[in-house]
Amino acid sequence: MKLVKTIAEVREITAEWRKQGLTVGFVPTMGYLHEGHASLIEASSANNDKTVVSVFLNPMQFGANEDLASYPRDIERDQKVVEAAGGDLIFNPEPSEMYHEGFSSFVDMTVLTEELCGLSRPVHFRGVCTVVAKLFNIVKPDRAYFGKKDAQQLAVIRHMVDDLNMDIEIIGCPIIREENGLAKSSRNTYLSASEQEAALVLSRSIFMGEKMVNEGERDAEKIIAEMTQMISAEPLAKIDYVKIVDLGTMQQIQRIEKPALCAIAVYIGKTRLIDNFFIENV
Ligand code: AMP
Repeated sequence: MKLVKTIAEVREITAEWRKQGLTVGFVPTMGYLHEGHASLIEASSANNDKTVVSVFLNPMQFGANEDLASYPRDIERDQKVVEAAGGDLIFNPEPSEMYHEGFSSFVDMTVLTEELCGLSRPVHFRGVCTVVAKLFNIVKPDRAYFGKKDAQQLAVIRHMVDDLNMDIEIIGCPIIREENGLAKSSRNTYLSASEQEAALVLSRSIFMGEKMVNEGERDAEKIIAEMTQMISAEPLAKIDYVKIVDLGTMQQIQRIEKPALCAIAVYIGKTRLIDNFFIENV
């Protein structure tokens, strides 16, 4: 397993792999890797000859008042996670390697990015789309792996690949959770002991909403109301949103009649956490 810092090195290594007829899987991350990231790397290495993992804390996808400066970093630990999960190459560029002076081209998506996290994080998806498009151009993977944990991001990336005719298969992977239900996230490290306890309200409300759907409830408002009530009862929690949206457009729906997504974002203290469940078999 190798770690490189420059675009030229990634290009050279992956070009050699392609020359040998090897398939390349790609897992983009912001680092501080946990079992959720490891599951993507494992899925990629099971289905591709080689797996590239990018570890890049992309400044462009953070708003001015967000947690770029405090985001946890530990590249040595990350290397161990990638190695154990079967990754072959880590791309860990500096921001200056990705954004040279005078950088001025962006991938800007409408509609899908204007709901859910896009409302409270207005610059986020422009940064995500731009960096993922750049990374796709650098790595040129056959397949790229994204977690369903970031459900809107997965939908946005699928849409970008389709809109811009990128010849890459996008694979969505299941949410990996702690035993207590909390979705694994690098941001969980921000939580104090009492906040960790309070954060369980996210997965509890997700499981309750999912149960309502499985038992036949199709009225989105009823599900949202129950989930909202549960989350609001937790004193340390402050709701950003609890929504049910069309899986294709990310626009809110009243009744669940097509594949949909129930997504929540909740502040636990100062930490903003997200969770969701997919409603695919309607
Ligand atoms: P991040 O480093 O947070 O940008 O995440 C990189 C990738 O890992 C994204 O595709 C995330 O959706 C995915 N990911 C993060 N947490 C989890 C999780 N708990 N389960 C599955 N995938 C995850």
